[in-house]
Amino acid sequence: MKLIDPVIYVEDYDGKKIMKRIERACRTCYRSEDKISEDSYKHLLKNCINRGHESILEHEKVSVRMICDIGVYKDLTRHRFASFSIESTRYCNYGKDKFDNEIKFIKPSHIDEGTQEYEIWKDTMENIEKSYIKLSEIGGKPDQLRMLLPHSTAAEVNMTANIREWKHILSLRASKHAHPSIRQLLIPLLLKFKEDMPELFDEIEYDTDFEPEKYAKLKSFEEDE
Ligand SMILES: Cc1cc2nc3c(=O)[nH]c(=O)nc-3n(C[C@H](O)[C@H](O)[C@H](O)COP(=O)(O)OP(=O)(O)OC[C@H]3O[C@@H](n4cnc5c(N)ncnc54)[C@H](O)[C@@H]3O)c2cc1C
Repeated sequence: MKLIDPVIYVEDYDGKKIMKRIERACRTCYRSEDKISEDSYKHLLKNCINRGHESILEHEKVSVRMICDIGVYKDLTRHRFASFSIESTRYCNYGKDKFDNEIKFIKPSHIDEGTQEYEIWKDTMENIEKSYIKLSEIGGKPDQLRMLLPHSTAAEVNMTANIREWKHILSLRASKHAHPSIRQLLIPLLLKFKEDMPELFDEIEYDTDFEPEKYAKLKSFEEDE
């Protein structure tokens, strides 16, 4: 059994280029391409967002890759305008050498190590892994093995969404109403988007009480490959 922290890898993108490309598409509506200058996108984007002219945000997308738990992707895949490619529990047999004969579990951010709750969680994961490996050793197939896997099981998730959908997802999932494991991954992503594309993401609120030291590590796509 391996207990790991979640990670979010973000593809390299140029926030200014994204915003300028959206401006170029948007100006077609008014045939005001002649008004494009170095900074003209700032005013235009703010204006469009305030007026609800948001379909222009669908022209650009950002992809991320996450190591997260099944509970996180169960919630995220409810978002219908995002695209997903996710490690399949129907094909991966964690009892095989390829997976070091062990299951990886994501440490829950909201069950503190050293507490009785954490020990109960950890014992449960250990027992699940024992049963999983036993079932695998007697010939259990991944379709059968996956029936034992809990929400805490780690998985690799590729996710792509356009800017309009990211705004929507982040407004729901970085908020204090979302599950802590999702907040842990998506608050740092939102903070990056706010820094790189303020005209698009400034207005999105998030749970400012979530402890920054618990944020998932944010890395670039190429790291750890
Ligand atoms: C705090 C929280 C608690 C939740 N609890 C539960 C729960 O207990 N049980 C449960 O089943 N789900 C729950 N959900 C999931 C939630 O109901 C949505 O399914 C999920 O957040 C996806 O968001 P969305 O519908 O806005 O969809 P997206 O797929 O991201 O769509 C974006 C937007 O497009 C529009 N849209 C998309 N499809 C349609 C459509 N068919 N008709 C009209 N407009 C559409 C809507 O404006 C929508 O907001 C919860 C979500 C949150 C954030």
